[in-house]
Amino acid sequence: MATKSTSLECLRCGGRMSEGFLLDEGVGSSRRITAWVGGEPQFNWLGITKLGEKPQMRVEAHRCRKCGWLDLFAPTRQW
Ligand SMILES: [Zn+2]
Repeated sequence: MATKSTSLECLRCGGRMSEGFLLDEGVGSSRRITAWVGGEPQFNWLGITKLGEKPQMRVEAHRCRKCGWLDLFAPTRQW
C-alpha cells in the first residue's frame, strides 16, 4: 500500500511530486475539497448522499511535475 512518503517520487516516471488537493466546484460559489467516505454510497429521496456515521477523510492529491500523474491519499486524520 502506498504511503505519503512514497508520493514524493512519481511511480510512473520517477519525477518529483507536488502536494495539492482535489477541488469540487459545486453549484454557485460552492467550493469543497474532495473527501474519501467509507462504505457504500446511500442517497435520500432527493438524491443527496447520506453520510450518517460513515468515516470521512480529506483527500490529498500529489501531482507529478514531469508527467502529470496523480497519486491520491486519505491520511488517517479526519476533517
Ligand atoms: Zn511522473
